[in-house]
Amino acid sequence: AKASGRNSICFFNPGMQVEMDARVVLESDLHKSWERNEFVLHYQPQGDGQRVIGAEALVRWQHPRRGLLSPSEFIPHAEETGLILPLGTWVLETACAQLAAWARDPAMAWLNLAVNVSPRQFCQPDFVEQVLCILDHAGVNPQKLKLELTESLLLNNMDDTITKIAALKARGVGFALDDFGTGYSSLYYLKCLPLDWVKIDQFFVRDVLTNPNDATIVRAIILLARSMGLEVIAEGVETEAQKLFLAQHGCNAYQGYLLSPPLSSGQFQEFMQQRGG
Ligand code: C2E
Ligand code: CA
Ligand code: CA
Ligand code: CA
Repeated sequence: AKASGRNSICFFNPGMQVEMDARVVLESDLHKSWERNEFVLHYQPQGDGQRVIGAEALVRWQHPRRGLLSPSEFIPHAEETGLILPLGTWVLETACAQLAAWARDPAMAWLNLAVNVSPRQFCQPDFVEQVLCILDHAGVNPQKLKLELTESLLLNNMDDTITKIAALKARGVGFALDDFGTGYSSLYYLKCLPLDWVKIDQFFVRDVLTNPNDATIVRAIILLARSMGLEVIAEGVETEAQKLFLAQHGCNAYQGYLLSPPLSSGQFQEFMQQRGG
């Protein structure tokens, strides 16, 4: 076969073209959505076995044609285009406004709120000032706010990361290492960063009762975190049996469909009323 000739070399197969088009559409949609205020925060309750201790704020995009889109469908694009910066600010502002509203309601006054922070957002030189300014503006006790960092985050500039965490911790803000164990340098972060919480990824929780390796890993994570004086929370807890296993091994805090899926602000309030705290 004649593989020569410039036109015979196919850099661009039709599948790639479709993928690219979808991406370009998504990215231009994303910009419009920003102007149209199409983002919402949902809140997934976190429990400790007795009561609801707080929630995690999870962003959704209310797309005019495609409905409610999950963050995995647009956060990566928002990261690439830089939209994650205004979006991340909006998430923090909205989360803190929600915390302020809960603090005024005796049925929810003790709740904490965890907020996911993207790498690009955290790396901004004024990240610390921004968070403090938003807390101050909302009139929220910084101890109610917990920031979830992922391992992909941190990296090249460990000193800068430690400085930022320490500065916010000095004001009372808590830090969790999210999706623990799924990155490639978890133990390094555990050693170096002044964290408060370790969050066990649902990837390990899912088969904890049927897969002996997962059970061993989960037990080891709990032991490790607790020996270092850190608190542990598990995500993706879907069954009583998983919750029991975790509790028996020293992890009482959990989040997952067993307690509740992520809820709109109004649904969350109803959820709290129905449980009576
Ligand atoms: P994550 O931080 O690991 O969040 C947990 C994900 O697991 C959420 O998906 C949640 O809806 C889902 N989940 C909760 N309980 C269960 C369960 O019992 N079983 C199963 N199978 N899944 C459960 P979601 O909301 O689609 O969020 C996906 C990811 O998007 C999050 O993963 C987080 O990394 C990112 N994300 C969400 N909100 C934000 C945000 O405001 N900013 C940034 N930078 N990232 C965000
Ligand atoms: Ca998270
Ligand atoms: Ca997580
Ligand atoms: Ca996860």
